[in-house]
Amino acid sequence: MRKIGLIGGTSWESTAIYYRLLNEGVQARRGGYHSARLVLSSVDFAQYEAWMRHGEWHHLGAALANEADALRRAGAEAILLCTNTMHKAARDVTSRVDVPFIDIRDVTGRAIVKAGVKRPLLLGTRYTMADDFFVAHLSGEFGLEPMVPGSADQDRIHAVIFDELVKGKINPDSRAVYQAIIAAAQGEGADGIIFGCTEIGMLIGAGDVTAPIFDTMQLHVDAALEFALSPLHLL
Ligand code: GLU
Repeated sequence: MRKIGLIGGTSWESTAIYYRLLNEGVQARRGGYHSARLVLSSVDFAQYEAWMRHGEWHHLGAALANEADALRRAGAEAILLCTNTMHKAARDVTSRVDVPFIDIRDVTGRAIVKAGVKRPLLLGTRYTMADDFFVAHLSGEFGLEPMVPGSADQDRIHAVIFDELVKGKINPDSRAVYQAIIAAAQGEGADGIIFGCTEIGMLIGAGDVTAPIFDTMQLHVDAALEFALSPLHLL
């Protein structure tokens, strides 16, 4: 089994779920007493949140590259960055380490294409919805036509993530807000929903919406399991 390196704490609420799902996945596939070989570097989210809010992506990227390098030296054979938003600085990480970087945008794009979905609605932080690093990646690499909510709805979605989910608060009223935004987008042609934030699956699930969902955290975990457990797997 290959050892996976996780950059987490982004937030720790969702990193804890990554940890559990990776171990459950290994247990389900290998049985017995098997568990995942992992090395985790869990950062102090406050510093990263401030860098994002101030647009200081160069500081954030340099810090992430240091974390990835530390994971590499600790024996990681692939790196996962356990947040969608910070993939805005993915190049800083890939230029620093010589092991595979399992990019959450790639695993998401592949799953959407495989499902035959063309116009998925992207939900995530304001950075993820409004900046180009996610949408352009899906359109450029996978030929998709992602939709994003309007500006006021982006603010609502973002506030739920930062005021509630990363603090472990689950609010049914916020679930209803997400459902209303999703329903409106379906009315405008969205044929799938991307949970493009690793905490969104804490709030809402497949049973709460009628369109196919693409939960980036779950897809990221699945790709990591495939890498860890399939000796011939090539990214
Ligand atoms: N974990 C979230 C994401 O997937 C948001 C928190 C963060 O900015 O890392 O984008």
